[in-house]
Amino acid sequence: MKQVVILGGGTGGNILANRLQKDRRSVRFDLQITVVDPEKDHLYQPGLLFLPFGSTTREKIIRRKRQLLRKEIRLVEQSVTSLDTIARTVTLADGSLLPYDVLVVATGTRIAPEETEGLTGEGWFKNRFDFYTLEGATRLQAALQEFTGGHLVINIVDVPIKCPVAPLEFAFLADDYFKRRGIRNKVKISYVTPLDNAFTKPVAANVFKNLLAEKNIDLVTEFNTGRVENNQIVSWDDRTVDFDLLVTVPLHNGAEFIKNSDIGDDLGFVRVDSATLQNPMHKEIFALGDATSVPASKAGSVAHFESETVHENIMRFLAGDEPLADFDGHSNCFIETGAGKAALIDFSYEVEPLPGSYPLPFFGPLRLLKVTRLNHWGKLAFRLIYWHLMLPARYLPISRHFSLRGKQNIT
Ligand SMILES: Cc1cc2nc3c(=O)[nH]c(=O)nc-3n(C[C@H](O)[C@H](O)[C@H](O)COP(=O)(O)OP(=O)(O)OC[C@H]3O[C@@H](n4cnc5c(N)ncnc54)[C@H](O)[C@@H]3O)c2cc1C
Repeated sequence: MKQVVILGGGTGGNILANRLQKDRRSVRFDLQITVVDPEKDHLYQPGLLFLPFGSTTREKIIRRKRQLLRKEIRLVEQSVTSLDTIARTVTLADGSLLPYDVLVVATGTRIAPEETEGLTGEGWFKNRFDFYTLEGATRLQAALQEFTGGHLVINIVDVPIKCPVAPLEFAFLADDYFKRRGIRNKVKISYVTPLDNAFTKPVAANVFKNLLAEKNIDLVTEFNTGRVENNQIVSWDDRTVDFDLLVTVPLHNGAEFIKNSDIGDDLGFVRVDSATLQNPMHKEIFALGDATSVPASKAGSVAHFESETVHENIMRFLAGDEPLADFDGHSNCFIETGAGKAALIDFSYEVEPLPGSYPLPFFGPLRLLKVTRLNHWGKLAFRLIYWHLMLPARYLPISRHFSLRGKQNIT
């Protein structure tokens, strides 16, 4: 029996495990699929954006991991502490060894606020919060409710981060939230980023920059946060921004065992070919989702599209065939803009987000880089699609391949 071991049972690991188990070829290859993850619960991370504003609940965004995996899949509820790529084993937290014939690393990112000097000091969870963790988002909800005015600063410490639009969404929703509470005129909102614009890709960056300006949100660019002291964020070149309430998007790393292995880069992300998602040195190792070092967005949509390529390439590897080099960096993401509206972006390694229609070219019904009500409904519907179609690896009428059809090339 061939052992396929998937490290991490989050978005990518869960979809891939179910996809492999459903494939008839798994029986032919006599596969045992094992998922290793220490967390009992699966968190729908896009819901963390809504939690601070009270527009979702913890119950709606958490499910038991065991219930999301097909029953034939083995779930090992332990953390991976090291990887031996020569012996082809992983070591678990209790010291036991797990052998593999094929290994998939899907351990996502690790949020590391403690790596920014002063950030997790005295004010942590008092007037400094993150919303990328369940604890941070939950505590921030209470802090926002108590906030009656002052300077709210949303700060990205450095890139890469997962869901690169989430901090922008947070700023737009904060504007809406304070308007609804009737105190917007008492709150100054600043968006402080290490980038030279509101986003990485030029066309979308200008759309978001204009939206920030429309909503009277200050944009501070090229601010590389070095430390936090006396209710100020301080950049490496000694610029400062004062805050009354800081919402930080902390540094992101990969899992420690990746950093200490021969498949990881300095940040602990797994080196894989950007089109095959296979490690160049160890052909039996693949990675997907946020754990990879590929230059795609760190997003659930990417993990979903990548799972199709990794699935195919595991089957090809077992059959002794060459891998399919077909992951094109396809990514898409809704961007909540407040007041019941949202925008949508769809892009790839080669093509930046452009205006147009999605998923059907010329028809839509969703509009790219436009702020519409339908996009907002799409974002809300995504939670149900995630639980009921994506994670069980059911058919979704969305191609993993990026397409230019229906897009206006305005670059
Ligand atoms: C606030 C927020 C909003 C977001 N909004 C969107 C959105 O609108 N659209 C979108 O597409 N994406 C969004 N994302 C990003 C999306 O959630 C992630 O990109 C996606 O979950 C990545 O999937 P993954 O499988 O790579 O990692 P994850 O889903 O994070 O799973 C990683 C798993 O690995 C496990 N793990 C970690 N270390 C170890 C270890 N040592 N041993 C064993 N297991 C381990 C973890 O417990 C976890 O279960 C958002 C993220 C956040 C934080």
